Amino acid sequence: MDMERGEGSHLFDTEGRRYVDFCAGIATCCLGHANPVVVDALCAQARKLMHCSNLYGIPGQERLAKMIVEDIIRIPGRVFFSNSGAESNDGIIKVARRFGHRRPAADGSPRYEVITFNKSFHGRTLGSMAATGQAKIQIEFDPLLVGFKYVDFNDLDALRAAISPITCGIMLEAIQGEGGVNPVQPEFLRGAAALCKEHDLLLMIDEVQCGFCRCGAPMGWQAVCPEVQPDLVSCAKGIGGGFPMGCFWVSNRAIDAQGTPLSSIMNAGSHGSTFGGTPLATATSAAVVAELLKQNLAERARKLGEYIKATVEGWNIPCVSGVRGLGLLRGVGFDKSRFRHPLPEGTTPAAHVNNLCRQAGLLACPAGPDTLRLIPALNIPQEVLDEGLQILHGVLEEA
Ligand SMILES: *Cc1c(COP(=O)(O)O)cnc(C)c1O
Repeated sequence: MDMERGEGSHLFDTEGRRYVDFCAGIATCCLGHANPVVVDALCAQARKLMHCSNLYGIPGQERLAKMIVEDIIRIPGRVFFSNSGAESNDGIIKVARRFGHRRPAADGSPRYEVITFNKSFHGRTLGSMAATGQAKIQIEFDPLLVGFKYVDFNDLDALRAAISPITCGIMLEAIQGEGGVNPVQPEFLRGAAALCKEHDLLLMIDEVQCGFCRCGAPMGWQAVCPEVQPDLVSCAKGIGGGFPMGCFWVSNRAIDAQGTPLSSIMNAGSHGSTFGGTPLATATSAAVVAELLKQNLAERARKLGEYIKATVEGWNIPCVSGVRGLGLLRGVGFDKSRFRHPLPEGTTPAAHVNNLCRQAGLLACPAGPDTLRLIPALNIPQEVLDEGLQILHGVLEEA
């Protein structure tokens, strides 16, 4: 199956077969395929100026950063543009390490350890892979970058116990995406934020998958606990609507008695990227973000997400254990022992159902062995959503 063309929430393969797309480039094509607003912005900017280097000011970067700070993150701070999620995470890890130098341990040695969580996913670069709490991502790439410690997600006692004199940050996804669609519990997120205050740590949130309106709020953590204020936020995927793009946000909050803003500890020369935030990338992303806000797609994602959960759970299918997640980042959980037919040798429930869906004309995406991820475009028309759910229903009834 090779894909040739996309239109809204449909993909067409090289043989002309049409699929309902509940994968959306793994939560990336948030406005569907070939969205005219995005395509027009991209083409117009390509004719004007694609790339010129960060040696010069780029007005589109400033405009987009302002939108991200004021309308998406909604906490004063600064934005650095990158090209991907892994790079954005490497960026916030660098900020955390520099913070650990500026705010050293009691004996004067720099703090550098970041606590992350089992089943997390932060990317494939040496830094973001080391941050990822999944052994399968790291096999035969050791020795890993030092300075990471993994604890169980949503276990506040374990998190508290893991903090040491060299810890400088706690890094988490508001909803673990690749790890099985596991939302952070509000009391855990509040507890983690309190531990950060108590121990002078940075709260680092990876919003690569759950950000940009996917989870029913501009950012995923806001859908869980809007009062929590992170220090660092990494973004990618939905920010570009399919264009390769990422960013990280750094809070302006003071890190010492002199009032030094956290965002000032990275200055020109301490980090950089040739392609990060090109005129083409920022113009395209600005069109995406403006459209997300204009159409209030966060609220739409919230409503459609509730609809998916109620619909799938309403089918009462024995092999379905439940629907997790928030907004349009949903995971259908499976109970392996309750499938009607035995699973093919060597396959997981999620991979098996995903294959059957694909054959029936629906594209979804596994998340761990037991969860099928439904992550459609946020503007998916109701009738296309229903068409996809009907295919899923047929597959699950049979399975
Ligand atoms: C996809 C993803 C990444 C990695 O992003 P890339 O653009 O593939 O580097 C990091 N974190 C999370 C939560 C992701 O879902």
